[in-house]
Amino acid sequence: MAGEAREQSTGKRLRQPIVVVLGHVDHGKTTLLDRIRGTAVTAKEPGLITQHVGASVVPASVIEKLAEPLKKLIPFKLIIPGLLFIDTPGHELFTNLRRRGGSVADFAILVVDINEGFQPQTYESIEILKQRRVPFIVAANKIDKIPGWKSNPNTPFIVSYRKQPQWVQEELERRLWDNVIAKLYEVGFQADRFDRVKDFTRTVAVIPISAKTGEGIAELLAVLAGLAQRYLQNRLRFAEGPAKGVILELREQPGLGTAADVIIYDGVLKRGDLIVTGGLEGPVITRVRALLMPKPLQEIRVAKRELEPVDEVYAAAGVRVVAPDIEKAVAGAPIYVATSEEEAKQLAEKIRREIEALRIKTEAEGVVVKADTLGSLEALVEALRRKNIPIRYADVGPVAKRDVIEAVASKEINKFYAVILAFNVKVLPEAEAEAERHEIKIFRHNVIYQLLEDFEKWYREQIEAERRKELEQLIRPGKIRIIPGYVFRRSNPAIVGVEVLGGVIKPGYPLMREDGKRIGTVHQIQDRGKTVQEARAGMAVAISIRGHVLVGRHIDEGDVLYTDIPEKHAIMWLTKYKSELTDDEKVVLKEIIKIKRKQNPTYAITL
Ligand code: GDP
Repeated sequence: MAGEAREQSTGKRLRQPIVVVLGHVDHGKTTLLDRIRGTAVTAKEPGLITQHVGASVVPASVIEKLAEPLKKLIPFKLIIPGLLFIDTPGHELFTNLRRRGGSVADFAILVVDINEGFQPQTYESIEILKQRRVPFIVAANKIDKIPGWKSNPNTPFIVSYRKQPQWVQEELERRLWDNVIAKLYEVGFQADRFDRVKDFTRTVAVIPISAKTGEGIAELLAVLAGLAQRYLQNRLRFAEGPAKGVILELREQPGLGTAADVIIYDGVLKRGDLIVTGGLEGPVITRVRALLMPKPLQEIRVAKRELEPVDEVYAAAGVRVVAPDIEKAVAGAPIYVATSEEEAKQLAEKIRREIEALRIKTEAEGVVVKADTLGSLEALVEALRRKNIPIRYADVGPVAKRDVIEAVASKEINKFYAVILAFNVKVLPEAEAEAERHEIKIFRHNVIYQLLEDFEKWYREQIEAERRKELEQLIRPGKIRIIPGYVFRRSNPAIVGVEVLGGVIKPGYPLMREDGKRIGTVHQIQDRGKTVQEARAGMAVAISIRGHVLVGRHIDEGDVLYTDIPEKHAIMWLTKYKSELTDDEKVVLKEIIKIKRKQNPTYAITL
């Protein structure tokens, strides 16, 4: 606390934390962001620009006003100027807020429907937050849908909660625990309802809210602001110097060509500044021709907000940057202001290296990855690495013929990785044709986890089919005895009655005697007059034996025979397919190996 006071007295200011909203589809991310923006507008703070490009700011004064009834619970004074929310929720855009080894986002709200609990994208959001090391709180949304809940619009959660009957409170606690807190524990996070958290550095705060009725929004904003200024002061210290940011999206600006929507996380960006950013063809050095910001408005629900030129913007900010050549940049690339041509060159080199590091090109086996932006490419590559899926080639852009050629080359090493994973990109027609010709499978999706899941499912099926095929071809252990009095034919082929003592015999299996001598192969098996494809332990069947074999000379009534397993097969049984053997097959295999080792002492010795 003493530190905070000193910061203020020396006049060093903090910028707004940049906040993102993540979570599963339909859990209420968009509704929550609308609600948050609404609070800023209805509070009517004159003179404050609350609308940015791609982002909205909730000023500190609004948060303080909302948190007024919670004074006892959240006793702090805000020294951050507010919170900057990225307007588009979800991790697809979030991935573009990339910053070497982390994120431009300072904090995240993970939205979870308290009634539905964790869903695939909830897990994926947590993975991505972990990967980018972004601290988060959880909004347990839709409390108004808890049976019996009586809504008190726009009141703090604590206030509304106290007004509910006990059974409703208990139901909320149960859902909060089962669907949210317990699930967080399962993925390695200690968590608790925000007002029960003692140490926010160790425990994730969960805030029950309704984005629809506004209940709990006060606590959500207050906790967010409080945590950010308490734990992120170093990150939020504002530098008066040249701006640093990231390109969130490139878009057409009517009459001005392509423009870049940029999030500035440090410093000041001015019209005319020399800026450096990155593209796929190399770094881009240019000058800011115009900076555009939304006109300040009191009314939030205006469909298209008009942009107007401004001279400068201060971090944190979302701004549209118009500059020559900016169309050569790529979303997810850093953008820096340079103070000299010399510095611009150095920054360009730094950016070039950073972007090249994300684009993979090897000669090895692995999948081919194409993504729409640098951020999604980075997230995909990370996710693949975590799953130990090798990558041969990864880049930004539509799937083109050369990508298929890479996959074909990969196929020569390992056919299971000869696929293309296309994230949110088009497949060019000639690439489609080429892929069809070479039987290269292209997986496409605009949800990362879905894309990976589709591929993994296919991969598992291929591996399993391959395994089945290989397994089918292995000769299994089998042990039979020629039943005395059941010789039907002595040769060409010999036909005898046998009982299966262990394992299995099938047509085509070679047989050997107990002394290891090969005596022909099983031709046909008949069980009570019917031809069968196998005979297992306990069965008595008639078999015909093909090969140079004469009953009475090579074999005789009462003899025990084994399947003659080639050494390669025996090794497979002992290693890869051990679990596929039944217990009696295992016993028989041991006996076979013993016989074989009498002739060949190193038979089926595995390391
Ligand atoms: P997103 O896909 O996560 O952005 O979810 P949306 O914000 O689009 O919400 C999905 C649906 O849930 C919409 O029909 C919303 O009206 C509804 N919804 C969102 N928040 C709440 C809430 O707190 N209570 C209720 N009852 N419905 C909600």
